[in-house]
Order: sequence, then structure tokens, then C-alpha cells
Amino acid sequence: MRKEYLIAGNWKMFKTIAESREFVRALAKEFSAAPGLEVVVFPPYTSLAATHGLEAKIKIGAQNMFFEEKGAFTGEISPLMLQELADCVLVGHSERREIFAESDEDVNKKLKTALKFNLPPVLCVGETLPEREAGKTLPKVRQQLEMALQGVAGANMEKITVAYEPIWAIGTGRNATPAQAQEVHHFIGQTLQEIAPGSRIKILYGGSVKPENSLELLSQEDISGVLVGGASLKVDQFSAIIQNALKLLNA
Ligand code: PEP
Repeated sequence: MRKEYLIAGNWKMFKTIAESREFVRALAKEFSAAPGLEVVVFPPYTSLAATHGLEAKIKIGAQNMFFEEKGAFTGEISPLMLQELADCVLVGHSERREIFAESDEDVNKKLKTALKFNLPPVLCVGETLPEREAGKTLPKVRQQLEMALQGVAGANMEKITVAYEPIWAIGTGRNATPAQAQEVHHFIGQTLQEIAPGSRIKILYGGSVKPENSLELLSQEDISGVLVGGASLKVDQFSAIIQNALKLLNA
């Protein structure tokens, strides 16, 4: 029997304010709050104010933030501003790393600043297809974790959630098999124990999660939830994934 699941939806650059509000209202009608179930959606910045606090059982996260508190950084949003609008923040999503050239150093700065402002970060890590094919998945993930977590005080570690998102599985329709995901999740769990012994840190799987594959993925021992992209944009699909988590919680 599982005690807790975090089901998260990354909307990327989709949904207007009105669409975001409508979605959150509609999703809330589809499931009952349950002990151990946590549901978060990550709308674009423009929809944060309109969705934050709209439905008590749906938390709202930001998809990104800058690592400075304030200053001459045109177009950026700081954790100080997000504090009032979001319950948590994604850090180091592969689209930020690849399209916007975010380095491991940037990710480390963002993670530490998010913690400083009491904004629990969801840290994304994952390998490319060539790295997987070359057998480099585990060293890559370990390196990303070590660099991102450098200088993070032990007491803060449990405020962090890690999302394992193999880049070859994001938006491709090709998910990691439950066994592949479990292997990496187990490794991440062990690595986190080395970095912060005794800490309990949630590890989400992300990469083409859909209602059809979510039950088996969520059943894996070291998978504590999912970070869903495409399928989180449709109420019926996202709520079907939530229902699968509820089934496992009630099993
Ligand atoms: C994501 O954007 O984090 C993601 C996992 O996307 P998708 O579910 O569409 O692969």
C-alpha cells in the first residue's frame, strides 16, 4: 500500500488566463481530496494569479524563475514575486536547459534562491538519447544532481522534489518503460541518500506519461509521482492519471 503520490502537470506555453481558470475549476470536480494525494499544475506566469488559491486541492507552481531577487533583468521573474503566486517552482526543466541554454550552475543558483524564498523547487534531471545509448544515463543523472545540489543545506533537502525526465521521452510519445524508470529512480534515491543521509525526497517520473501507462509507472517502488506535460492539458486525461494514483493509494 502506498502512502503518498504527487501528480504534477506542466502546461508549458499553453492556456490563456480564462482557459487556465476553467481547467482548474473543471479538474477539481473530477477528484476528491485524499490523504497522501497532492495535485499541482504549473501554468504559464500569466495564469498564476488567476489560478493560485482557486481550488484548495490543486496547488499552483511556476515553470521557471530567475535567481536574483530584483534588479535590471528585463523580462525575468524573481522568487520574491512568485512567493505570493505559487506554491512551488520547476527548476532545470530540459526545455529550459536546451532551448534557453541554462547551465548546471544556473540551475544550482535557482534552486538555492528558491529555497531561500521558501518556494519548494522541483528539480528536473535526465539524459539525452545518445547518453542513454552510450550507457551514460546514471553518471549523467548523478552529475546533474551533484551540481544542482551543491551548497544546499541538509535541512533544506526535504523541501526539494526531484523529477527524472529522460529527454528522449519528453513530448515524443515514447515513455521510459516502468523498469527503466524504476532503475533510475532507485539510483537517484541512493545518490540523494549519499548527499543527504536520512532525507526523504520525492522522485517523480516525467516523459510521455498518459492515462494508459500511468498505473504501471506509479506502481514502481521508487516512483513517488509523475510530472505530466501533454496529457496534463486535457482534464479527462489528467484526471484519469490522478484516479490511477487514488486507486493505488486505496489498494
Ligand atoms: C514535461 O514537459 O515535463 C513532460 C514530461 O512532457 P510530456 O509529458 O509531454 O512528455
